[in-house]
Amino acid sequence: MGPAPLGPRSSAVKALQLLLLALLAGCSAGTPPRPARWQDAPTLDALQALLCRLDPECRWLRLRLLDTDRPLAEIRYRFEIVLSRGMLERAATTAERAFVLAHELGHLRLAHAPPRNADERLPLELAADAWAVERLRAEGIDPAAGLGLLERLAAELERAEPPPAGHASALAEYARRRAALARQLEPRP
Ligand SMILES: [Zn+2]
Repeated sequence: MGPAPLGPRSSAVKALQLLLLALLAGCSAGTPPRPARWQDAPTLDALQALLCRLDPECRWLRLRLLDTDRPLAEIRYRFEIVLSRGMLERAATTAERAFVLAHELGHLRLAHAPPRNADERLPLELAADAWAVERLRAEGIDPAAGLGLLERLAAELERAEPPPAGHASALAEYARRRAALARQLEPRP
C-alpha cells in the first residue's frame, strides 16, 4: 500500500498534532513547512497594543503573524512572539488573546529554555500560566478567559478521530494546566 491520500481528515489530524506542538506542548520548536507571514495590520496593531499593556518593555519585542489554520503560539529568538491565524480564530476575544500573549511573555520573562520532553515541559507551562494569571489580574483583564480557552482546545483534541499521536499525554497535560489554573482562579481569602 502506498501512502494514504491527503484529505480533510488527515489535515484535521495534522492540525491537532501541531496544536500539541504549539500551544500545549511548549510553544517552542518551529514546525516545517513554515507558513507564510500573515499581513493583517488591524489585527497586528490591536495585538501590539495589548502586548504593550501587558509588558512595558514591549518595544524590545516583536510580534509576527503566520497565515495558517494551525493554532500556533511560540517564542522565537527570545524576542519574537509568533501567533497564527488559527490561534487567533480560537482565541477570539481580547481577554483570550491577552492570556495567550501573557503566557508567552511568561516563558520569556521567566527565561524558560526549550524543554527536551513532556516531563520538562509541564512545569514550564504551569509556570507560564501562573505568571500570566498574575499579570492579567494586575491589568484588570479576566484570567478566567484562559481557562475557557484551554477547555475548548482540550475538547477539540478529545474529539479528534482518530486520536493523533501523543493524544493521551497531551490531554493529561491540558488537565494538569486546567486544574492548576482553576485553583489559582479561586477567590482569595
Ligand atoms: Zn507555553
